[in-house]
Amino acid sequence: MMNKKIIIRTLEKIALYMELQAENPFKVSAFRKAAAALEADERSLSEIDDITAIKGIGKGTAAVITELMEIGESTVLKELEAIVPKGLVPLMKLPGLGGKKLAKLYQELNIVDAATLKAACEAGQVRGLAGFAAKTEEKILKELETFGSRAERLPIWQLEPVVLEINELLASLPEVELFSVAGSFRRVAETSKDVDFIIATKEYEVVREAILTRLAILETVAAGATKVSVILDREEPVSVDFRLVTREEFATALHHFTGSKDHNVRMRQLAKSMGKKISEYGVEQEDGTVVTFESEEAFFAHFNLPFIPPTVRESGKELDRLDELSELVKLEDIVADLHMHTTWSDGAHSVSEMGQALMDNGYSHAVITDHSQYLKVANGLTPERLEQQKLDIYAFNEANPNFRLYRGTEMDILPDGTLDFGDDVLKELDFVIASIHSSFTQSQDKIMARLKTAVENPYVHMIAHPTGRIVGQRGGYDPDVPLLIEWAAAHGKILELNANPYRLDLSIEYLTLAMEKNVPIAINTDAHAIDQLRFMDIGVKYAQKAWLKKDLIVNTWSKDKFEAFISKNK
Ligand SMILES: [Zn+2]
Ligand SMILES: [Zn+2]
Repeated sequence: MMNKKIIIRTLEKIALYMELQAENPFKVSAFRKAAAALEADERSLSEIDDITAIKGIGKGTAAVITELMEIGESTVLKELEAIVPKGLVPLMKLPGLGGKKLAKLYQELNIVDAATLKAACEAGQVRGLAGFAAKTEEKILKELETFGSRAERLPIWQLEPVVLEINELLASLPEVELFSVAGSFRRVAETSKDVDFIIATKEYEVVREAILTRLAILETVAAGATKVSVILDREEPVSVDFRLVTREEFATALHHFTGSKDHNVRMRQLAKSMGKKISEYGVEQEDGTVVTFESEEAFFAHFNLPFIPPTVRESGKELDRLDELSELVKLEDIVADLHMHTTWSDGAHSVSEMGQALMDNGYSHAVITDHSQYLKVANGLTPERLEQQKLDIYAFNEANPNFRLYRGTEMDILPDGTLDFGDDVLKELDFVIASIHSSFTQSQDKIMARLKTAVENPYVHMIAHPTGRIVGQRGGYDPDVPLLIEWAAAHGKILELNANPYRLDLSIEYLTLAMEKNVPIAINTDAHAIDQLRFMDIGVKYAQKAWLKKDLIVNTWSKDKFEAFISKNK
């Protein structure tokens, strides 16, 4: 589905590829300008009828945008992708190598991939180029040592779109009776080695053919009768194992391949104590017959156990916490999302489009929290624009009396420790989020001083993504989280579990600590487009991993309870 964000990213990609091709700099900057103009425009795609009327979008860029909207791809980008060497673009990830520098390496030294870059560095050719120093060359060489070696484990945000794509394919095959992702991804692990799918079918051949022909495959590792292993061609290649089983075997196969190993060990011990034996094909009884199950629920029931959600199948000790299972938060318990962006800042959809999508989700209320003025790259709102946005929100509420959109902000905590809005602005809002988006490298003392200002402000309700980490990639700004949890408890503030799979902070150990201190937790998608509202499912499952109880989770509270909470300092 095409949305504004995808178009902006495509325009930026075209600019980069043109830069690498040493295209006319005016042409390159036309695409960057068009991307920025779209970002700054407050309307969503469906609300813009004349794209050329937007200042900063010319004839050439408008044609690309129109093509993207109409057919979902860009001929210009496709042509560029065909001529720019495949190995060149990934080098952008090396620190210090932007488009301009990479273009120079390509044009002047004919560097096309990591290998040619390494050779040129070793030959001392790179330091000879204007703008490069001997030190840059050393740094690149050092970075190249680990570059390109396939990551042992991939973060959840890289796997999630892959799983979505496979889900879509399998759901479209009439020969597939049942299917599910298994393995650590199903348990919502932060990183996984590979992805496993269990498929129940009678038509092994047809399903195998579909997998092998309809996915973008880099390498087929195995294509046996009941197991297909492939490496998918993605920016970061992904290994996927498909296991084809009969409908009868499905439940035990799914349980077996979901793990964890320790959970399965504990289950086998329990079975043994009852004279039974668990395998991926079924449960062997004392008399040697094998029982199969309609569902995993029935499988657990066979051992007098309630359904144990995959997310808590970890150490095996979950079998000692059965009485807590019913209190765990579930997706059905969620009635609100308290953190999201619209076209007023850097989101793809308008207030009313987001509102409609939230209603379609079955929620009863939500908060619109666009960025504040400090975040210029995200078109953050000044107090004046925040005031104008009110009209959109009021209009939506008037048209939809059974749903309530609250006025909020995701306000920056500035590097100097002050807040981006004064109390006069904040007190007019229903819900105030405070976030750190800048100066991550400050000392822990400075970071904590910034967080303290926010926690102590009576109008702030919540600290969003409290560590700023990116799962599997960046640690964030290193706050003293246990201390932050204490402050939140003392001042009655909410801490966020950001459900975006990039973030997932707070992490499990801190969620557990927050629960011990009775700090309310909000699971929020931080959606920048409607389709990202789906991240709530990941957030809820991640919360289960920390055994979070639903009462503590703000988005399970009714509208009345939420209103009582947000109005207590007014
Ligand atoms: Zn944020
Ligand atoms: Zn946000």
